[in-house]
Amino acid sequence: MPGAAGRSTGTGVVPWPRRDADRYFAEGYWEGRSLGTHLAETARKYPDEVCLVDGDVRLTFRELLAKADGAAIRMSALGVGGDDRVVVQLPNCWEFVVTTVACLRLGAVPVWTMPQFREHEIGGILANAEATAIVVPDVYKGFDHQALAREVLPDGLVFVVGEDVAPGNIDLRAQFVSDEPVEVSQALDAAAPNGDAVATFLLSGGTTGLPKLIPRSGNDLSYMIKTASEICGFGPDTSYLVVLPLGHGFANTGPGILGALLSGGRVVIAPSPAPQQALPLIERERITATSAVPAILHRWIEYLDSEPGLDLSTLEMIQIGAAKLDPALAARVRPELGCTLQQVFGMGEGLLCLTRLDDPDELILHTQGRPISPHDEILLVDEEGSPVPPGEPGILLVRGPYTTRGYYRSPELNARSFVDGWYNTGDIVRVTPEGYLVVSGREKDVINRGGEKINAEEVETFALDVPGVEHAAAVAMPDAELGEVVCLYVVATKPVSLPDVHALMLAAGAARFKLPERLVVVDELPATGIGKVDKKALRADIASRLAADAA
Ligand code: AMP
Repeated sequence: MPGAAGRSTGTGVVPWPRRDADRYFAEGYWEGRSLGTHLAETARKYPDEVCLVDGDVRLTFRELLAKADGAAIRMSALGVGGDDRVVVQLPNCWEFVVTTVACLRLGAVPVWTMPQFREHEIGGILANAEATAIVVPDVYKGFDHQALAREVLPDGLVFVVGEDVAPGNIDLRAQFVSDEPVEVSQALDAAAPNGDAVATFLLSGGTTGLPKLIPRSGNDLSYMIKTASEICGFGPDTSYLVVLPLGHGFANTGPGILGALLSGGRVVIAPSPAPQQALPLIERERITATSAVPAILHRWIEYLDSEPGLDLSTLEMIQIGAAKLDPALAARVRPELGCTLQQVFGMGEGLLCLTRLDDPDELILHTQGRPISPHDEILLVDEEGSPVPPGEPGILLVRGPYTTRGYYRSPELNARSFVDGWYNTGDIVRVTPEGYLVVSGREKDVINRGGEKINAEEVETFALDVPGVEHAAAVAMPDAELGEVVCLYVVATKPVSLPDVHALMLAAGAARFKLPERLVVVDELPATGIGKVDKKALRADIASRLAADAA
């Protein structure tokens, strides 16, 4: 089913070298089939099992596939073709999952985004992806997503989940028709893309400008999800609670909801990660596995201290990743949640490291896991690019069967971020004698706000538009709950306040989570020997200001 609009993805994707691809096929890692095909196979294997739960909605695999195939065929009739990009900006809900499966079945490319994104982010993503369609809620948390979608995609298809679909937009749920004749599914089977085709674009938490699109193929993503699922012990008995935003690769693919579904298991969607809502679901739905970021784990454990009555005994494992986990908090998981902790270190670009469920405590509590594939190659280098001695920290470079070889249509950035196929992660890690990674820092200019990545340069660019601001530097400020939040340093010719910065960023359509939490006005920004802003000095400065505040 060829694409109806926009350029095909093919020309913008950097392929794996033939030699590597041949090896991945020969080893059986890559199977040459699309993710949609894998999902349909599993659905047909377990047709009567409930696989998706959201509030009162409970879908079996048969129902999920029928709704997704019905939607795929209708989306196609409306003009969404194979390889067309569909930006999905939904909160966590069952419709998110059906839409994703529909796109994968059609061979359209879902681009998962966050509900918090506003015109700045969504407009940029739509343009980069040259998307044909966007899927949004009508109103979510008081924000009119339909109006934004129409504004940023005036000529495209706007699919809406909700009661109040504006004229010209399309009611998505009305496309979830499950009484299509069997020939429809057969036609989708026959037209499925091969494994080389882009299955999805993940968004990079990278360091320059708007999120870059990370092409992930059916081959590489299916391999990663299946391998991670095996390591997590996922199978038909898995009941996976999703609390993280489905716009994140972690919740979708690490192995996430797609891992649970591909294993024949069940996905249960929590309306919110708040302990009052998520934890009772563990008891009610007999959840066996879930994933969270350290900030959520912290809230859950604190809540359990005050509400000890909940029965969480079905929970076998919890994955914690996306930001550094404090070993002291890690040590509370087994005694207080009664399950195995799995540390996760991964990135949208590919590499996924996991501690294994039967690892000794020393590794589970103090490392961020080891790569999931024997073909993941790891190289640690110093600032000059020379390998560091074993056991020493270095900048992590990686390549392998599911780590992308380049951002979509970004030759200049790729020249910097990918060298000889090695992706420069910008993370500083060391490798233990057992081959486990310990994350010790970061070279890239990103602030990790409870797992949400904020590009420092993006915040600085906004700040420079505030009247009077001459220089700006955004750095991570330690935060007890979120790990890091944004602190903005400015040099200004007239008084500038934090609300001024917030007002400008919001007016410019930036997502709210990027707003700096603190503003420090200084006479000048410290510089390094080569004249760059010395962010190390600024991080030290904010640490000492916080210490002084606390004293
Ligand atoms: P994203 O692609 O948005 O998932 O962000 C990936 C980045 O998140 C990595 O390059 C790291 O900087 C950070 N990250 C992911 N997992 C961890 C972890 N367990 N500990 C510390 N940082 C992490």
